[in-house]
Amino acid sequence: MSEILVLVEQLDGEVKKVTLELLTLARGLGTPAAVWAGPGLTDGAKAKLAEYGAEKIYVASSADVVDHVVAPKAELLAQLVADKSPAAVLVAATAEGKEVAGRLAVKTDSGVITDAVGLGEGFVADQSIFGGGVNVRSRVRKGTPIVAVRPNSTAPEPAAGAGAEEEVSLTLSEAAKAARVVERVKQEKGARPELTEAAIVVSGGRGVGSAENFSVIEGLADALGAAVGASRAATDAGWYPHQFQVGQTGKTVSPQLYIAAGISGAIQHRAGMQTAKTIVAINKDPEAPIFELADYGVVGDLHQVVPQLTEEVTKRK
Ligand SMILES: Cc1cc2nc3c(=O)[nH]c(=O)nc-3n(C[C@H](O)[C@H](O)[C@H](O)COP(=O)(O)OP(=O)(O)OC[C@H]3O[C@@H](n4cnc5c(N)ncnc54)[C@H](O)[C@@H]3O)c2cc1C
Repeated sequence: MSEILVLVEQLDGEVKKVTLELLTLARGLGTPAAVWAGPGLTDGAKAKLAEYGAEKIYVASSADVVDHVVAPKAELLAQLVADKSPAAVLVAATAEGKEVAGRLAVKTDSGVITDAVGLGEGFVADQSIFGGGVNVRSRVRKGTPIVAVRPNSTAPEPAAGAGAEEEVSLTLSEAAKAARVVERVKQEKGARPELTEAAIVVSGGRGVGSAENFSVIEGLADALGAAVGASRAATDAGWYPHQFQVGQTGKTVSPQLYIAAGISGAIQHRAGMQTAKTIVAINKDPEAPIFELADYGVVGDLHQVVPQLTEEVTKRK
């Protein structure tokens, strides 16, 4: 079976969950081969990639690959596409992943699909488009299919691969070195999972009422091991930081479970969460549009409903 290249997302040598999801998807369609861009491949990361099915791990360990913004990763993948003729290339549909995908498509004269939420036989991708209002199935018809898949689109399942390491020597073009990273500031990592990677997201909206009241949302999130999200009304009011905004102009999440508390369900909010597998809405207005989308709905005051839910979840743990 032909190789399917999977660009590894990692932080400090730790492989991110989305990569394990991509390897799981790739396994159903060909032979997964991980691509590690930059230095810092640890034994732990190698073992993880192999555990989830990577038969090969291509490593471009030059610091140049990560010391310049985005372009080197696209050049690395383009070189591998030319050398290895893979059946497809999968990247995570993060902001960087999508830019890498676009650049790679131009370099290899191939078609690209972004924001896929599923990928099946013949590389037919499920996509949620027009702000999430329409679901379509698409297939690349030119070149090597390049598909950017949203985190949490599939459950990662281990299945051992050989994990054979192969060093790739890469000569970057001058153009790829145009923008250099001059400083890295490490973001303090809280105890909660990263919003776009989390399997469960609990979000609060204007109905939460104040910044202090967001502790109600955080309480439920912590009981469930979830990430916290917010509507734009809540972030614009300064109740929760903008980096947690879910929606068209915020983050796109696709968790297994999304709980929306005090959120009306405006189209721009839906755009960022409606591919969640199960949606639960808590809203005191029975006519709130979010209920059209929700799998389960509770009509009630979130200040009463959410603490009870938190208590019940905690009791059952
Ligand atoms: C270009 C553009 C981009 C945008 N991008 C985004 C985006 O990325 N993300 C986003 O979220 N929005 C975005 N918006 C804004 C969007 O249109 C909505 O205004 C916003 O989503 C509303 O947030 P909300 O649901 O929290 O507030 P509201 O629409 O005011 O809804 C609050 C809800 O809380 C309920 N409620 C009130 N009190 C309680 C209570 N005690 N218990 C239970 N329920 C209660 C109410 O019944 C109501 O349904 C964008 C808008 C534009 C024009």
